Amino acid sequence: MSLISSSSFNKWKRDLLHVLYPQNCLICRHEFNQTKLAICPVCLSELVYTHFEDYTGETNLDKLFWGRVQLEGTYALLRFKQENSTQQILHELKYKDNPQVGKHFGKEIGTKLKGLAKFSDVDALVPVPLHPKKEFVRGYNQAEIICKGIAESSGVMLRKDLLKRISFTESQTKKGKSSRWENMQNRFRIQGTKSTGLKHLLVVDDVVTTGSTLETCVRILREEFPDAKISIAVLAVAE
Ligand SMILES: [Zn+2]
Repeated sequence: MSLISSSSFNKWKRDLLHVLYPQNCLICRHEFNQTKLAICPVCLSELVYTHFEDYTGETNLDKLFWGRVQLEGTYALLRFKQENSTQQILHELKYKDNPQVGKHFGKEIGTKLKGLAKFSDVDALVPVPLHPKKEFVRGYNQAEIICKGIAESSGVMLRKDLLKRISFTESQTKKGKSSRWENMQNRFRIQGTKSTGLKHLLVVDDVVTTGSTLETCVRILREEFPDAKISIAVLAVAE
């Protein structure tokens, strides 16, 4: 009675499932035979997690900001090493038009943070802003994409309106600023809309190396929110 054979129905079903649940690894993009996972077993085995959620003392990431800015908490999901798949994730996210990978790991970060008391009262996710020209070329801000993942699994609100980057040439026209910090500071400014009632801001970026960008963001937010707690979370910390 059926108009289509079961084998063609199965093929149709498989094609549909493939559209709904693409079986290409989010990192290496190779096709693999496991619909429930987004990352293939090879890439999964190469990921180096920090396991910071299991630390009771200070992590290297905490120590990176000692004497620079006061932070409530710091978190990184992965360790970044040359040639490991974390490098590939960051590369996919930045240069390969692959926001899905950022969303995926953002969700993982959100899940980890939910289990940590330090982050339990976070009420705003603040992505490190990208220069608007760069965002236009890339099509998205990778820090914002990670925030969207965190928001999805944690329920915390994304607030991309709190920090805005201004152009470097614009900042250079301002007189007499010479120190590195002042130059960095001039690349960012707080957008005019003042927000009240926020208690704990989580500043989010894709990777931390020297920490100077995050430091700048935290200092500027501190001026605008003198009484709020500020924490940072990144997808990867460089070794
Ligand atoms: Zn893979």
